[in-house]
Amino acid sequence: MSTETPAAPERGDFIREIVAADLRAGRHDTVVTRFPPEPNGYLHIGHAKSICLNFGIAQEFGGRCHLRFDDTNPVKEEQEYIDAIESDVRWLGFDWGEHLYFASDYFEQLYAWAVDLIRAGKAYVDELSADEVREHRGTLTEPGRNSPWRDRPIEESLDLFERMRAGEFPNGARVLRAKIDMASPNINLRDPVLYRIVHAAHPRTGDAWCVYPTYDFAHGQSDAIEGVTHSICTLEFEVHRPLYDWLIENLPVPSRPRQYEFARLNLTHTVLSKRVLLRLVNEGHVRGWDDPRMPTISGLRRRGFPAEGIRDFATMIGVAKSDSVVEVGMLEHAVRDVLNRTAARRFAVLDPLKVVVEDYPEGRVEHMEVANNPEDPSAGTRTVPFTRELWIERDDFMEEPPAKFFRLAPGREVRLRGAYFVTCREVVKDASGAIVELRCTHDPATRGGAAPDGRRPKATLHWVSADHAVPAEVRLYDHLFLHPDPGAGGRDLFADLNPDSETVRTGALIEPALADVPVGETVQFERLGYFTPDPDSAPGRPVFNRTLTLRDTWARLQAQGRHDTR
Ligand code: ATP
Ligand code: MG
Repeated sequence: MSTETPAAPERGDFIREIVAADLRAGRHDTVVTRFPPEPNGYLHIGHAKSICLNFGIAQEFGGRCHLRFDDTNPVKEEQEYIDAIESDVRWLGFDWGEHLYFASDYFEQLYAWAVDLIRAGKAYVDELSADEVREHRGTLTEPGRNSPWRDRPIEESLDLFERMRAGEFPNGARVLRAKIDMASPNINLRDPVLYRIVHAAHPRTGDAWCVYPTYDFAHGQSDAIEGVTHSICTLEFEVHRPLYDWLIENLPVPSRPRQYEFARLNLTHTVLSKRVLLRLVNEGHVRGWDDPRMPTISGLRRRGFPAEGIRDFATMIGVAKSDSVVEVGMLEHAVRDVLNRTAARRFAVLDPLKVVVEDYPEGRVEHMEVANNPEDPSAGTRTVPFTRELWIERDDFMEEPPAKFFRLAPGREVRLRGAYFVTCREVVKDASGAIVELRCTHDPATRGGAAPDGRRPKATLHWVSADHAVPAEVRLYDHLFLHPDPGAGGRDLFADLNPDSETVRTGALIEPALADVPVGETVQFERLGYFTPDPDSAPGRPVFNRTLTLRDTWARLQAQGRHDTR
């Protein structure tokens, strides 16, 4: 094993610079980070940024990253969330090895340390109600006031804390507070609450406890127990750092972690508050936590976003010290980039119009060889059956085409991708005047999609054989929120929901090869976008979700120098 200090990664950010400097200076032999989710909801794209940062740093510097559940509030936490979080982190491509931890594993140790603080005169049991505690806390401009219980004898606090643990008091009747400074300009140091009474079963410890440590008391101490060197969190915890340090300094913890803060991810057209995401689920605005419109990892996965695209996005946005809003188009751009390279091309017709190739023999089937991915010859080819009766996209035909419409029209020739050139000879309508069928002829010399005389039609259409097409349901997705900044300006967030965020097309017809695409794989429906099978698919009845259209508005705005960098 090499003992060299690993080199700093190429793409440095201020946190990686700190880590590199600490390793160079010998302050640590190895870097230890952690990702500390609270299991009170599913992970979202903001968490993905934190996961890529914490696990990424561990990988790049040859250290390790722990997955630690911050399970200190049993009222909101569930095993379902623990399981989902583990599978989402793994799916994103990261591995915590044997370093899976739970703050609840440390409850006994944390309790003992709380007793130490009381013994040292640095914590006390308070009997003020939650409202009174708030009133005594003061404001940003006014100092707080001491609780009347602040100077009670140490023995009394010890006794009461033990009785809190024993279950003698109802929720909210007592709290344990650190004795720091009610006049501190930092409100977090005004005798913060360390323990509260919560009579609720915990997903892991069951009924063993009815007092639970607060985030502030559990977090830094858990870091210290695990030997975390760099405890990386989002900016809202910057004002908690003095308390983090105070606790580390005043407790006999086995190591001295340090906290660093970075800007959380905000995305346009997206809400990343777990509270709001839970409401979207509970109030039925979406199909569940993994709805393809949700910004959750499981939603993005069901939508067909590859993990690689999400990781690339995290690299693109980098890590900064001040908050900003990233355009959701940038995430979509990163995903398109991966899919353009990797997705197999297939034919699917979402809104079918019948085409009869009159001069093609009935009953004849030709298996046309078509490239799986023109961007990647190694992806090979597949065969697509061609027959006399076909389906094309309804909007690929116009009876009276305007000047810039180059697709099929009466008398006009187009290329059917990988098959033949066809010319529209007749438009068949029903009694109401609606177009029901096109009669076409084909040029047998253009088999495979090229003419010996070198003529090139202005349009190439996708198509499926009417005899072989598989019926499918296709769900078209768009942004869940219409407004780029949902709920801004005091509007009701839910009034900003996009009523057309999901459009279900039940009459799609797809090429036979699409019936075998496994869930988890994303393909390109030629000319239409990227699509992935939904887990709702049944044998013989596939359901596809539209991952993204092919149009990359973010890249276009970039090219025009109009990217909004709010
Ligand atoms: P809540 O919305 O309930 O406060 P949270 O989003 O902070 O929850 P946690 O489970 O506490 O959820 O988050 C785990 C980790 O993910 C934390 O370190 C947190 O800082 C980080 N994180 C959460 N949201 C974002 C975000 N939008 N961008 C970057 N990191 C985030
Ligand atoms: Mg949190």
